[in-house]
Amino acid sequence: MELFAIRPEIRFGPDALAALEELAGRRVLIVTDEFLARKSGLLEGVKERLKSCEISVFDQVKPDPSLRLVAQGVHALRAFGPDIVLAFGGGSPMDCAKAMRHFAGGNPPPELWCIPTTAGTGSEVTSFAVLTDADAGVKYPLVDDALLPDCAVLDASLLAGVPPAVTADTGMDVLTHAAEGCVARKATPFSDAMGEKAFSIAWRSLSHAHAGDNAAKGEMLLASCLAGISFNAAGLGICHALAHALGGRYHIPHGRLNAMLLPHVIAFNSADKGAADKYARLSGLCGLAKNPRALIGGVKRLRAGLGMPEKLTACGVEGQTLLADLDSIAQAALADVCAPGNPRPATQEDLKAILKE
Ligand code: NAD
Repeated sequence: MELFAIRPEIRFGPDALAALEELAGRRVLIVTDEFLARKSGLLEGVKERLKSCEISVFDQVKPDPSLRLVAQGVHALRAFGPDIVLAFGGGSPMDCAKAMRHFAGGNPPPELWCIPTTAGTGSEVTSFAVLTDADAGVKYPLVDDALLPDCAVLDASLLAGVPPAVTADTGMDVLTHAAEGCVARKATPFSDAMGEKAFSIAWRSLSHAHAGDNAAKGEMLLASCLAGISFNAAGLGICHALAHALGGRYHIPHGRLNAMLLPHVIAFNSADKGAADKYARLSGLCGLAKNPRALIGGVKRLRAGLGMPEKLTACGVEGQTLLADLDSIAQAALADVCAPGNPRPATQEDLKAILKE
């Protein structure tokens, strides 16, 4: 027997932030980053909707949240004792808030609401929280249904000021979630429906979003959430396993790593007939020839159009450094929770070959 469930309620559409008015009179801990809290002006719009609430703001989140940061956050959460933890930001604040609530305990724990301000991770609908052990240089996802948010609020107006480089990085994360989820071992017709829809929306919208089109940014926000629902059910694969291992070591944005790896992973996985058929289908949905090679070409062209690098050396990683780190990165990727979801089993040597490319 198989199961497909969508847990968080999703509020979306124009003025979705109005959903926050349901929280009237509650104690709300907002978890966000410094840019969003102090420079973007966006947090004011959220506070405006929470006028009757007692609010505390934890705005110390940094990209790729560390275990130490989560421990600080747990302290802040316990000190304030909120009814609601409200994550406001990209994947980093959302994952930090998920982990904070999880480790702070409490019976019952506070509700978790997520408001994504990037179109990328889909963290608002997943049981994943990706954390970094900064001392060990390792980044890994925690996966537990207890991490699932209670409510996701998708308000596209929040994305208007996202700069092109962040739109590109996060958008390629969406495309990778959709592609990896569709070929993953636990994919089902339900997860495929979400993943294929996410892939085709992202394919036609990402370049426009990158050029600053706000309607396209809204489409990317929907695609991000659909891809999140898909991979949360289906799992991911070695593209994410390698991106986590590389991200923990070199601190390159997660989506940028996925964009670099995806064509190589499609080529590797296409030796599996089931995966090759799924890639061919995705390729056809995007108006390309129905085969994996056409999809690889399309992903490379899209990536180049977004001005994204194709090699780690273009991100400041010296070739010699990578060669020296090759074994430990491949080992970390093999141990990553995403690796077993890959449709074609990969050995450490396979992963090293991909890294060398
Ligand atoms: P992020 O949250 O780290 O944010 C990147 C940058 O964008 C930050 O500087 C932030 O201040 C800025 N930003 C955010 N919203 C903005 C806005 N509206 N306007 C202008 N600037 C804005 O980036 P991300 O890509 O959303 O998240 C990456 C993290 O999420 C990584 O740690 C990654 O591993 C993790 N992740 C989690 C999941 C999951 O399911 N939980 C899935 C994929 C990735």
